[in-house]
Amino acid sequence: MARKFEMTINGQPVAAAEYVEIKNPADGSVVGLSPLGTRAHLDSAVAAAKRAFASWRETSDEQRADACRAIAKVLADNAAELSQLLTREQGKPLKGLGSEFELGGCAGWSGYVASQSLPVKILEDSPKNRIEQHRVPIGVVGSITPWNWPLLIAIWHIVPAVRTGNTVVIKPSPFTPLSTLRMIELLNSVLPPGVINVVSGEDRLGADMSAHPDISKVVFTGSIATGKKVMASAAGTLKALTLELGGNDAGIVLPDADVEKLAEGLFWGAFINSGQTCGALKRLYVHDSVFERTCQALTKLAQTIPMGDGSAEGSLLGPLQNERQYQRVIELVEDAKAHGAKVLTGGAPTQGPGYFYPITLVTGIEDGVRLVDEEQFGPVLPIVRYTDVDDAIRRANGTDFGLDASVWGSDPELLRKVAQRLEAGTVLINKHAEIAPHVPFGGIKSSGLGVEFGQEGLEAYTTIKIINSPASGSTA
Ligand code: NAD
Repeated sequence: MARKFEMTINGQPVAAAEYVEIKNPADGSVVGLSPLGTRAHLDSAVAAAKRAFASWRETSDEQRADACRAIAKVLADNAAELSQLLTREQGKPLKGLGSEFELGGCAGWSGYVASQSLPVKILEDSPKNRIEQHRVPIGVVGSITPWNWPLLIAIWHIVPAVRTGNTVVIKPSPFTPLSTLRMIELLNSVLPPGVINVVSGEDRLGADMSAHPDISKVVFTGSIATGKKVMASAAGTLKALTLELGGNDAGIVLPDADVEKLAEGLFWGAFINSGQTCGALKRLYVHDSVFERTCQALTKLAQTIPMGDGSAEGSLLGPLQNERQYQRVIELVEDAKAHGAKVLTGGAPTQGPGYFYPITLVTGIEDGVRLVDEEQFGPVLPIVRYTDVDDAIRRANGTDFGLDASVWGSDPELLRKVAQRLEAGTVLINKHAEIAPHVPFGGIKSSGLGVEFGQEGLEAYTTIKIINSPASGSTA
């Protein structure tokens, strides 16, 4: 009998009337049973978070920093269990840039957030006035997460919220709820009841959260289409919002690039987590003069990277996480082929159990074909030939996406010039898909609203409160 997981509301395990089987995308085996939470569960979680907020907001900065350090320790102490569970339900390998890496990120991020602070700013300290700017918590934060990096993204939402005095209700993706349910259960062992609650269930719960009158902020990571719905339904209650949405990151390889040396960075920039990463490289524009060499170097590398069941020794890439994503990748590659694409490697789903799609490199298509224009979110990279750098920049920018972009080459001045012209929240030089807890991250255009990480990311969990008084001794 598969294990039943439970929600955590007000520090207590909560069962549901119905459960759904969560299956391993590598072989279809049942990993566990996830509770189908209802609107009533959501309401009770929000009520618990609201009650907890009354006292959590009064805790000192030091107490909250301690709580985040305790979270980091719980994550580190339980990394083995959580990473194994994550691999079984998400599909990513344990090793490489997989589950153990993700759990390491969770603990590291939490520790970093513990060390951050938002000191009071003195805006005026004159003979007349003393005006202070404080950062105060917003209230109950609703966190809605996707299935690609379920635990790391949950930690990005939860820990800064708690650090700044808010309380949280999190709803994981229906595709990967188990590791989040278990993680939140563990985190509750070091936090007062109600500070972090988790409710699992269908998409509907996310919509209910976005409109909930007692949720004051929603932090959402997911697709652009859903992000727009969240924003629309949050309008009724004027919620604060952070939206981290999809990307179709372009990379431009300049004529002077040492492509053999850069190939590994290009490869992992595109294929991290089998391409199921918002900030992965999703279309690569390569100058005519280095086009063949780039294709050769990437193809050679692609053929050496082992893909397989994430729990198996040696796997560095896993399957697609779910049937919907698997079908989408198949559809986009078939469409590209119908538009004259040449497949350098991969190009058809792997036979056998699981949602495996091989590492696929495609040439011979341009902008206007879906595989170049849309977010594929899978292990497929279109490599597009260009002859004029201005044209490559124009094509890279000619999209509604604006998460990251990158430029690859040897001349530092040219690299910087191109970087300045690329329209994205983050532009990387000779690397891709790199984030850090001290560096604000977010998309422009349709790729998002607001940032996470760094000082600005932390501030996003607060509102400004001004205390304006006459200077001591002044009666004015
Ligand atoms: P998704 O939008 O389908 O789902 C994300 C979450 O939203 C899930 O928890 C889902 O249950 C919930 N949801 C569904 N309908 C909802 C509604 N009407 N209202 C509120 N919530 C609702 O996204 P996904 O398929 O899980 O994730 C893949 C997408 O996420 C990709 O586009 C990827 O680029 C993006 N993503 C972005 C970032 C980033 O930081 N920018 C990070 C990871 C993933």
